[in-house]
Amino acid sequence: MQKRYLMAPGPVAVSPEVLSKMSEPIIHHRSPQFSAILQRIREDLKYLFQTQNDVIMFASSGTGGMEAAVANLLSPGDTAIVIRAGKFGERWTELCEAYGIKAVNIDVPWGDAVNVATVEQTLNAFPEAKAVFMQAHETSTGAKQPVKEIAALLKNRENTVLAVDAITALGVYELKTDEWGLDVVITGSQKALALPPGLALVSVSEKAMNLVKKSTSPRYYFNFLSEKKSIAKQTTAFTPAVSLIMGLGTVLEDIKKTGLEAVFAHHARLAAGTRAAISALGLELYTRVPSEAVTVVKTPEGIDGQALVKKLREEYGITIAGGQGQAKGKIFRISHMGHLSEWDMIIAIAAVERGLKSLGYPIELGKGVSAAQGYFAIH
Ligand SMILES: *Cc1c(COP(=O)(O)O)cnc(C)c1O
Repeated sequence: MQKRYLMAPGPVAVSPEVLSKMSEPIIHHRSPQFSAILQRIREDLKYLFQTQNDVIMFASSGTGGMEAAVANLLSPGDTAIVIRAGKFGERWTELCEAYGIKAVNIDVPWGDAVNVATVEQTLNAFPEAKAVFMQAHETSTGAKQPVKEIAALLKNRENTVLAVDAITALGVYELKTDEWGLDVVITGSQKALALPPGLALVSVSEKAMNLVKKSTSPRYYFNFLSEKKSIAKQTTAFTPAVSLIMGLGTVLEDIKKTGLEAVFAHHARLAAGTRAAISALGLELYTRVPSEAVTVVKTPEGIDGQALVKKLREEYGITIAGGQGQAKGKIFRISHMGHLSEWDMIIAIAAVERGLKSLGYPIELGKGVSAAQGYFAIH
């Protein structure tokens, strides 16, 4: 049997400790035992999100959290500003359209961060916009977006909230929900939190709750009001994803014990070592403002990125990701999220070297590995 490595930016590798926790017998969700576990997890989530507000949990993929934000904040006919810096930005527009909300799109060239001045101009041009939707990190391009700066633009605009898809940012690098004034922050289980897919987590500010109370959009399961009520009663509105929540408890304990700063430093180190290798190989980053979540590399001239990804997965047992949408075939992406260490990065780099060579690209085997080793040995 082939040994397999999961190094794509979601879903990511899950640690044996978390897998084992999730395989324990199911606890009934209306028991005092589960209620106590839930209380602890809800407190630990506040530490992760850096917020005093409640964090709502849904049994869905990350997109469910995004849909909940749109449906709960806005009403049909409302206007929202959407920052589209890649495939996940486009999803915000599609969700707005599904709920009859007028999306004013700010399109950003792939691989770039949005220009803050453009966001300010758009806010001035559309003062009726009730929300700005954005990604903290656009996973399809690897570009980090200026969340703090955009939040600052909204601080004194009483009638406009900021909703941030932080699925590949929260728990990867600094994101201060309350201090920066992020009204809605969304994450999912299968990326930075190193869990299997199936949980969406959403924090909601007081400013956002004022909009939620006024929303006339249809919603039933994805309802912030009923979730808030259940949190006050130390329970959940519906049957929660018990096993995933048990795993989340283990992940959060580990994050608290390690400390957020050290968790951020871990991701930054994996990213920097990987990029030392990419540059030693003479390859170029696709992203102009790279994040610590993923390294996105341009596939060299004459090589098909999809063929490289397929070769690694099928012949070597190593899953990295290719490009989506307009970047398909042009890039490959190596995750720094998940249960990964520097040694896994060295494996990914070795596989990229061998894959490129076997596809006919002139490469000196070991050059990237050597640069990564050099970096990791002294940092
Ligand atoms: C993965 C991801 C999502 C959510 O995708 P799901 O498949 O619904 O979990 C949303 N936004 C970003 C930036 C992502 O990376």
